[in-house]
Amino acid sequence: MIDLHCHTLHSDGTDTPEALALLGEASGLTALCLTDHDTLGGIPAFLAMQPRVKARLLVGIELSCQFLGRSLHVLGLLVDPADIQFQARLVELRGRRDARNRGMIARLGELGYPITYEDVQAHSETPLLSRVHFAQALASRGFVRRAPEAFEHLIGDDCPGFVPREELSPTEAAHWIREAGGVPVIAHPGRFGGPGFRWDEAMADLQKLGLEGLEGYYGEYRAAEQRYFLALAGRLGMIVTGGSDYHGAHKPGLRLGHGRGGLQVPDELLDRLETQQRLGAYH
Ligand code: AMP
Ligand code: MN
Ligand code: MN
Ligand code: MN
Repeated sequence: MIDLHCHTLHSDGTDTPEALALLGEASGLTALCLTDHDTLGGIPAFLAMQPRVKARLLVGIELSCQFLGRSLHVLGLLVDPADIQFQARLVELRGRRDARNRGMIARLGELGYPITYEDVQAHSETPLLSRVHFAQALASRGFVRRAPEAFEHLIGDDCPGFVPREELSPTEAAHWIREAGGVPVIAHPGRFGGPGFRWDEAMADLQKLGLEGLEGYYGEYRAAEQRYFLALAGRLGMIVTGGSDYHGAHKPGLRLGHGRGGLQVPDELLDRLETQQRLGAYH
């Protein structure tokens, strides 16, 4: 069993990279790929666990792009963490995130929920600030009773305190990941567009734009969703990956490798991913 999608406190999870690697081992995984949002900050500490942890520790990232007017998440699996151009591109992305964060602080102030940058920073152990840290800051200031409530009224995608950031196009995301030696894969397509969304045409469009795979196994899919996406990938000739999207305490009840209980990502998917990485290599 493997898990190719999870987070640490370098983005919006709560585990250290070291703890995550140990948890991967304890969960019986043979491979674990760290995919923090917009940063490779946790990768050196994660990879340093390698001889100690027998499970293969792999490098990835999760980027956001704009598709059909909504945010679509893309995993860059097996990217090269030493790629200087990719590192510079991530610095630029984090700059856009920071500008968005400052915009959200201003917007929340206008709405009558004054919090400071320092309030938000106080809830993150690393420089990257995410909306989960906003939610905690709003709770500790007493503007909501519990952090998840902040997403319902204030900072969820359709809420008045949310400020979107300048996002990549799917083409750019795929290109950046490929140039960094990785494979671009659509993360949790089942979470995009809602239950009634018909993926067939949209997925074929994304494939033309350079997205090579999709997450067919996911920590929060229902059985029918998994069947649908595995069949769709088969029809289109896209590769399938899978992971829990583990965030530690920020997603209570969701376990690394196991998701909400029924997740089992087969080892063979990693062989196929590595073949795809070599097939599509630019150089
Ligand atoms: P950001 O990348 O800063 O825009 O924050 C996005 C993160 O906030 C996601 O990766 C989730 O961890 C979290 N998030 C977004 N929407 C919700 C929601 N409705 N409920 C709980 N957490 C959410
Ligand atoms: Mn997240
Ligand atoms: Mn995501
Ligand atoms: Mn994720």
